[in-house]
Amino acid sequence: APRVFSGIKPSGGLTLGNYLGAIKRFVEMQGGDFETIFCVVDLHAITVWQDPEELRRATREVAAGYLASGIDPEKSILFNQSRVSAHAELGWLFNCVARMGWMNRMTQFKEKAGKNAEKQSLGLYAYPSLMAADILAYHATHVPVGEDQKQHVELTRDIAAKFNHDYGTEFFPLTTPVIEGPAMRVMNLRDGTKKMSKSGESDMERINMTDDADAIAKKFKKARTDPAPLPESLDELKDRPEAKNLVDIYAGLSGMSAEQVIAEHGGAGWGQFKPALADLAVEKLAPISSEMARLMDDPAEIDRIMARGAERARAIADPVVAKTSEIMGLIR
Ligand code: ATP
Ligand code: MG
Repeated sequence: APRVFSGIKPSGGLTLGNYLGAIKRFVEMQGGDFETIFCVVDLHAITVWQDPEELRRATREVAAGYLASGIDPEKSILFNQSRVSAHAELGWLFNCVARMGWMNRMTQFKEKAGKNAEKQSLGLYAYPSLMAADILAYHATHVPVGEDQKQHVELTRDIAAKFNHDYGTEFFPLTTPVIEGPAMRVMNLRDGTKKMSKSGESDMERINMTDDADAIAKKFKKARTDPAPLPESLDELKDRPEAKNLVDIYAGLSGMSAEQVIAEHGGAGWGQFKPALADLAVEKLAPISSEMARLMDDPAEIDRIMARGAERARAIADPVVAKTSEIMGLIR
């Protein structure tokens, strides 16, 4: 059966990029043709330093973000990664399949490490191999992600293909990245060449899912743009990354295509469009953030939901790791 797996790191507060590029689409896939598995990938978060107390809080907050947006723990499996040891085990096995040269080509490591590659954790470097384990422990066939994760899902296919080839098997499926929609790469509000990230330096560069109406209005108002009004055709947005980003965000939030947004708002100045965008964002995010706050009042309930999800996850992943070990010649 087609099966979806995807994850979000508890490395900070959830952003509008995480919502449009990931969570909103997860909710749309739930209850359809796919079996859906969603994870709070805490083992990925610790590839860079996390304060332990803050990590616990952020783990529950990401779970709350999933739940408040409409992930139903009856319809989907929802859990945190470290509770299911199959991820770390299969991650090690895949470290022995993946090649150094493949890791060296990962652009995200280069971006995150900057000039300081030598000072990064070994985990940050090997992270795509653990991500392949996250996906393949469930034999997931489809992985909805934002554009920034495309390269890692392709690496997952390479690992599956090399494993299958080296051991003369067809055990692992070749997973398809699902990257569809107008806002698959939401950009930083202060710099249209960088993506919006939870772990970015300044709070002004991102919309957090928990931002209130005032913060959202202020951040869009201060968002960098060129001075020209919105064009009358989509083509004219090509060399205007900041303007394109705000149109894409509007499209993602409203469910319209970028073409439709331009048809409706072409010719508008920023003094008109930015407040309309802020109102739309508040309309969509306010109910979610108030539900997140309600859920965060009862962390024990969130933990129970994740523990139950982990049990169901283990039932799928443990036999996959056992079989992988057997194929590789490990005696268990
Ligand atoms: P970090 O800065 O810690 O890497 P992040 O904001 O990039 O955090 P991740 O946990 O790495 O978030 O990614 C979770 C999901 O959100 C992935 O599917 C990723 O592709 C998606 N995503 C992250 N940022 C964006 C963005 N700016 N636009 C669209 N999707 C995004
Ligand atoms: Mg990221």
